[in-house]
Amino acid sequence: MATEPSADARRAQPQSAQPGVWHAGWHSRARHVPSPNHGTRPAGTAIDLVIVHSISLPPGVYGGDEVERLFTNTLDWDAHPYFEQIRGIEVSSHFFIRRDGALLQFVSVEDRAWHAGKSSWQGRDNCNDHSVGIELEGLEHHPFEQAQYETLARLLAELRGNWPIRHAVGHEHVAPGRKEDPGRAFDWGLLASLTGWQSEQLPPLAMPPLQA
Ligand SMILES: [Zn+2]
Repeated sequence: MATEPSADARRAQPQSAQPGVWHAGWHSRARHVPSPNHGTRPAGTAIDLVIVHSISLPPGVYGGDEVERLFTNTLDWDAHPYFEQIRGIEVSSHFFIRRDGALLQFVSVEDRAWHAGKSSWQGRDNCNDHSVGIELEGLEHHPFEQAQYETLARLLAELRGNWPIRHAVGHEHVAPGRKEDPGRAFDWGLLASLTGWQSEQLPPLAMPPLQA
């Protein structure tokens, strides 16, 4: 398979407005936890979509290292009964934002991470091909922390400075009926206000955030 990016792909990547943030698709201020769970993107793919997820292991338990162990195939499947449900899966995301806003990165943005699964957005299937996956430490339909929104908003701006990102949506929007994350409590309106992104760049605000 050709690994040389096509002329279209090179043209699709604008000059970085923030020199020093990115090095070969790795964020300079993230903690790097390289995952083997990735591949090459199809040649010529414009990276134009961000998919927001939520995850915690076991679900609803925060602060441990289980997510990074899952994404690096080092999770002890016998350590918790829940892990039996996911035993052996090989997944990853590009980024993970902890409850305190700390940023971890597992896969270069230039590479294809394994976060979306069977998915479709605006008529294009296999969203892993052209998206960046960002996991928020959390539980679907439960509120997220302000620090997470702030890290996410900053990361989105930095991604847009280097790749032609056009939309940010939830996993629930690219895999409706199969996935529910990040869920009703994710505040897309807050994200819009922090990023200045327009409504057409975000999912339809059909699901207002839960009131506290
Ligand atoms: Zn997800």
